[in-house]
Amino acid sequence: METTEVPFLTAATETSPTAAKLSAGAASLRRKPPADPSTLEHRRLRGGEFWRAIPKYRDVDEATFLDHIWQARNSVKTVDELLDTIKDFADPRFIDDARAGFRHSPMSVRVSPYMIACIDWTRPYEDPIRIQFIPLGSRQRPDHPRLVLDSLHELDDSPVPGLTHRYVDKALFLPLSTCPVYCRFCTRSYAVGLDTDTVDKVALAKTSREWQAAFDYIASRPELEDIVISGGDTYQLAPRNLRLIGDTLLDIEHVRRMRFATKGPAVMPMKILTDNEWVEALAAVAERGRSLGKDVVLHTHFNSPNEITQITQRAMARLASLGIFVRNQSVLIRGVNDRPETMQLLVKRLSWINVHPYYVYMHDMVKGVEDLRTTIATALDVEKFVRGATAGFNTPTFVCDAPGGGGKRDVHSFDYYDRENGIAVYSAPSVKPGKHFVYFDPIEDLAPSAQSRWRHPRTAEAMVAEAIAAAGGSRGYVPA
Ligand SMILES: *Cc1c(COP(=O)(O)O)cnc(C)c1O
Ligand code: SF4
Repeated sequence: METTEVPFLTAATETSPTAAKLSAGAASLRRKPPADPSTLEHRRLRGGEFWRAIPKYRDVDEATFLDHIWQARNSVKTVDELLDTIKDFADPRFIDDARAGFRHSPMSVRVSPYMIACIDWTRPYEDPIRIQFIPLGSRQRPDHPRLVLDSLHELDDSPVPGLTHRYVDKALFLPLSTCPVYCRFCTRSYAVGLDTDTVDKVALAKTSREWQAAFDYIASRPELEDIVISGGDTYQLAPRNLRLIGDTLLDIEHVRRMRFATKGPAVMPMKILTDNEWVEALAAVAERGRSLGKDVVLHTHFNSPNEITQITQRAMARLASLGIFVRNQSVLIRGVNDRPETMQLLVKRLSWINVHPYYVYMHDMVKGVEDLRTTIATALDVEKFVRGATAGFNTPTFVCDAPGGGGKRDVHSFDYYDRENGIAVYSAPSVKPGKHFVYFDPIEDLAPSAQSRWRHPRTAEAMVAEAIAAAGGSRGYVPA
């Protein structure tokens, strides 16, 4: 810029009587105009006693609402509890719709009062938080024909109960199977939550005695440097168990990095403010990690900018003051964050409260929630809009956890993408060399001609084979 403009200005100075004016004008051209106030939207966080708008919480004071035990006790688990909480705030047709949704859901339902209070009950059908937690009969779509339970094949890569060792130097430890809320889209609906009418859950290791097998395995594998402690959700770990897991792993010399994964900060930030024992246990593990030169961080899971309030900001400030670094992993969900502007707002709001956006996942191919998935093409568009909006280190990588156990792949790195039929083919040379993994876009998002091709199993089979061939061969194809 500078080098091309300077000679022009010099020439103008020599020839024009209004040169001085022009040159002043040109200098101001280089100054950026003031930012539109809408660019600061991410800093506008909901505050005050917003929960009092919910009939059941009308008389709940701040101390009660911030009490994590009150939050857990008052979580909504049935349609009748929902009705009792929101009363006639929602249309009776909506309640009937929820009744049908709860009946067919593969996940148990549990919604914290905080989340209930963050829902805009005047527009429950469109609300991004309602979409994540409260199933509706009317929104159900048929599952994709290529969908299976445990689409990530976590059970295939599991050497001992509750541990998945897929990548060379990192492992996923699942010490428990409960969560502070249950998300409709949960990848681990094969194991997480209670058995439901449609799914019998796989048992994970749930007691410290059962965890020993996982600890022994980790200790026996010198290549394991990085342990993700997930679940379920580590919010549900008793403080002494959080310390036990943290200390045991820190004691293993080759374990260098540890992440406690919890959706908690997004759905019940008050625990960070009022469950001192839990926060102190986490801080103690992080501090001991620092003294050993090891990295102990928290990974959380915000999906919608509406989940972030002034309560969240206070909770994250407390973690920051304790030196606990927080990263975020979102799932790209239809109607929640699949508009580029919404994802950009989420990313900027997370950055504002000092949570680093790490990943945005393609929605896994999970049973019973086909209405929540989006296409790879949508992910590419959203990513393009987000990149450049803020610091590169706060810009999430969009990944597809390849069905069949290929692990996370940058969404852009497909070997072939048949946009028309919604078939993306990935390979993962450092995880499962020589194999292909296929992700399928939701069928209802395809053109009518493509939809009708999917209705014929033979044609569908041929389309998949063609896409794999175009990606470079069918050797070792792992069916989704
Ligand atoms: C996601 C995941 C990890 C961690 O992967 P990162 O890309 O380092 O975040 C580890 N093990 C399994 C099985 C996973 O699914
Ligand atoms: S909190 Fe995590 S593990 Fe629990 S239901 Fe939600 S997505 Fe699944």
